[in-house]
Amino acid sequence: MKKRYETIIIGGGIIGASIAYHLAKAGKQTAVFESGEIGKKATRAAAGMLGAHAECDKPGTFFEFARASQSAYKRLAPELKKISGIDINRHDGGILKLAFTESDRVRLAAMAELDSAEWLTAEEVFEKEPHAAKGIIGANFIRDDVHVEPLSVCRAFAKGAKLFGADIFEHAPVLSVEAASGGGVRIMTASGAVEAEHAAIASGVWSGVFFKQLGLNKSFYPVKGECLSVWNDTIPLTRTLYHDHCYIVPRRSGKLVIGATMKHGDWNDKPDLNGIEAVVKKAKMMLPEIGGMKIDQCWAGLRPETEDGNPYIGRHPENGSVLFAAGHFRNGILLAPATGEMITDMIVGRPVNPAWEEAFKVERKEAVHK
Ligand SMILES: Cc1cc2nc3c(=O)[nH]c(=O)nc-3n(C[C@H](O)[C@H](O)[C@H](O)COP(=O)(O)OP(=O)(O)OC[C@H]3O[C@@H](n4cnc5c(N)ncnc54)[C@H](O)[C@@H]3O)c2cc1C
Repeated sequence: MKKRYETIIIGGGIIGASIAYHLAKAGKQTAVFESGEIGKKATRAAAGMLGAHAECDKPGTFFEFARASQSAYKRLAPELKKISGIDINRHDGGILKLAFTESDRVRLAAMAELDSAEWLTAEEVFEKEPHAAKGIIGANFIRDDVHVEPLSVCRAFAKGAKLFGADIFEHAPVLSVEAASGGGVRIMTASGAVEAEHAAIASGVWSGVFFKQLGLNKSFYPVKGECLSVWNDTIPLTRTLYHDHCYIVPRRSGKLVIGATMKHGDWNDKPDLNGIEAVVKKAKMMLPEIGGMKIDQCWAGLRPETEDGNPYIGRHPENGSVLFAAGHFRNGILLAPATGEMITDMIVGRPVNPAWEEAFKVERKEAVHK
């Protein structure tokens, strides 16, 4: 292991891997330190929806950032395939946000004002997805909210970074981070100290410890999500069905991914029967035939939530050598490309959208976590 790099990334989930890819592509000598294996924490648990509209019900800075990241995937899918050989399995069907009640309809119809969303009557929904539940009264169809396979994206970023010259260290937890005496940053690993001009903290829900070591009192809250997948060899389903924070995502392989619970404060990343039962119940409400499908597997992951639900993407307020990219909560897959680009632009000195910088900076004023 070298003792000095230009840039170090702590955490090899999708956020760290995207930063590594963009930095290595920009010619920076980069190393990623991952305590386990690349992409095997929250990233692997995700459904992979690029839900810019599904997750934001109003326009604003977050929506613009999400849209920019969503559209970066259009460029990245062929680019990552060409560079890494890995297909991120982008699936273009879009999302149908189903309305079962008048209040669902009012809320969703207001959202249809956002670009690329369109209100459909129940008949129009059945033309697209004949097996959707008969009890619906319509749906918001969001063409651009496609999905990808999160672990494939993460691996493609990591492999691409490697091919651009980055070092990726797995089973290499970082124990501490501090300002280096001669300038830059110094991390401590089990194999010794490593220094760099810049370090990016991208350790998901476990990032709080590094904020504290660097003098910042920021908390991260795990929000456990439980999912399962089933084999669909009986009915056609092209679009993601979504209702009440529950979704059925049709993968290219023929599997349907069903998710997800929201268990606040639970640090255990194993699913339990109550969680799986709850998502199955909601899934059957959207697609009754799903009850007869064979179970593939169940899993869970920890979404990294912050005080105000928005990620921290930006510099340490007093030490410009340290940058943060953590707390992407429900949207880390969606936001990975834009986050990787933003951190890279900050490090290489390219201009950054000032509204994004302001919205995601570490020292913003935040509402108290409930
Ligand atoms: C059930 C579920 C469904 C989801 N669905 C979606 C979705 O459809 N769309 C979407 O956009 N988002 C979704 N998300 C959210 C998304 O998964 C996360 O926002 C995203 O994975 C966060 O990425 P990350 O790289 O910050 O965190 P992680 O993937 O958790 O990666 C952090 C990494 O840091 C490593 N690490 C921690 N401490 C250290 C240390 N000391 N040293 C070295 N490495 C360390 C960890 O081992 C880990 O690999 C979902 C999440 C869940 C749980």
